[in-house]
Amino acid sequence: MLCAKCRSVGVLTSCMEFRKRYKQLIALAVFAASGVLLSGQNAQPNGPPSTPPSIMDRLNAMMAGGKSAWTPEQLSTMERLRDAAMKDPYALDELRHLTDNIGPRLSGSPQAQQAVDYVAGEMRALGAEVTLEKATVPHWVRGVEKGEIVSWPGQTPGTTQKVVLTALGGSVATPPEGLLAGVVVVDNWQQLHALTPDAVKGKILLFNHKFDKELAAQGDGLNAYVGGVVYRGAGPIAAVAAGAVAVLVRSVGGADFRLPHTGMTEYAPDEPKIPAAAVTAEDADLLKDLTSQGPVKLHFTLTPQTLPDASSYNVIADWKGTEHPEQVVVVSGHLDSWDLGTGAIDDGAGVVVSMQTLHLLKELGIHPRRTVRFVAWMSEEEGSEGAAAYMADHNSAIANHIGAIESDLGADHPAGIYYAGKGELGQWLRPVAQVLDAIGAETLVSAPEAGEDIAGLTAKGVPSFAPAQDSRFYFNYHHTAADTFDKIDPKHLNENAAVMAVLAYALADSPEPAPR
Ligand SMILES: [Zn+2]
Repeated sequence: MLCAKCRSVGVLTSCMEFRKRYKQLIALAVFAASGVLLSGQNAQPNGPPSTPPSIMDRLNAMMAGGKSAWTPEQLSTMERLRDAAMKDPYALDELRHLTDNIGPRLSGSPQAQQAVDYVAGEMRALGAEVTLEKATVPHWVRGVEKGEIVSWPGQTPGTTQKVVLTALGGSVATPPEGLLAGVVVVDNWQQLHALTPDAVKGKILLFNHKFDKELAAQGDGLNAYVGGVVYRGAGPIAAVAAGAVAVLVRSVGGADFRLPHTGMTEYAPDEPKIPAAAVTAEDADLLKDLTSQGPVKLHFTLTPQTLPDASSYNVIADWKGTEHPEQVVVVSGHLDSWDLGTGAIDDGAGVVVSMQTLHLLKELGIHPRRTVRFVAWMSEEEGSEGAAAYMADHNSAIANHIGAIESDLGADHPAGIYYAGKGELGQWLRPVAQVLDAIGAETLVSAPEAGEDIAGLTAKGVPSFAPAQDSRFYFNYHHTAADTFDKIDPKHLNENAAVMAVLAYALADSPEPAPR
């Protein structure tokens, strides 16, 4: 999971890079569009590496040197939680229901509301104190999406070629009869600049930036994603500036099965909005090949609609603390998903491993000192409106947030824990890591952030955490029609549930709160 270049960690979740990093990158795209030549450097997604620990620190850490924040009894409670999580089918069963029975959970959709009601009911059944926290969310619906190449060099008369595409989140529609125009392909911003000023006017512009599969194969899927997603996010802004009538992006993911990859896109305020879609990697290659031979015309139709904003909710369920009920540890995932698949890895898995924490506390009769607060966030994918509502509603209680955990990078094997906050958190967590060593989740890695929905808490100094999931395969399925329940490995899901439960308990029951 370490960045191969700078050895630090980009712990941005599937979607969180979008708003965090990419606002800066949009600025870059605007520069690009306005004719400022980019020098070829990419915005570096990661900060400088932190100071490595001394040899003595490392030796002490290996030997569990120094004082443990937890008693032997508490450590044995963590072992019980770990072992129960590895055996208990609750998380898998809940995920099956969320994905197979309820289905995709796009913000503002009936299924998102059904999921809110369902998860709230499940948490009430455990005896947790449940609150629905209102958030106003976007309500965008997809509609028809189809495309075909109607003219190209070497065409057999009377034929067309299908192009597999999907509307990007927030995209406007084409005219009902579709849009017909010539296609211009560029691999990157620099190639866009090298074109003559009128080259893109009235055309469909395709950004053909390739997902870095080798980086993903090394375990750094996140940075491979960050490298490409800027074209999805900022593509419409640059395309409008260049005079395009529509914009396409090559799908940002490693899938090889002609699957388009959706995700949110952005328009510049006060500029025209043009239809925006992702084509599959295969179709991007096809368009690149044909346009290199001569003129190519594409006809495509999108009929998405942006409906009035909808009322929705974060689901909050408190397992009340015995000594400090006012102090809370957040354990969370986001309940909304994209609509092409059923949101199993993004982020039904994060929700159910968090639900499992409360379920195991109930099953094992564990009542920590502080409140363990389950949160199922709403609308992470389309603007994190749920997280914003939480920050507004709990603004006066931030000091009582002792820790926050979010899982939003799928459900593959967790190598350990990312922590964002004070450097000494790593040493403090060492006994917890030793409990998790039995399931191969003993690594502790400092990271700038730990999750999009908890980023507001992190910024206010709340120690923040995430399971450090294997991201080699995540972006093969993420935001595609293949993000479905069958992609979940039950053992890996349970390992994630174990990390969440053990860490949440450790934070909620330590005599002194985590360093901050
Ligand atoms: Zn997500």
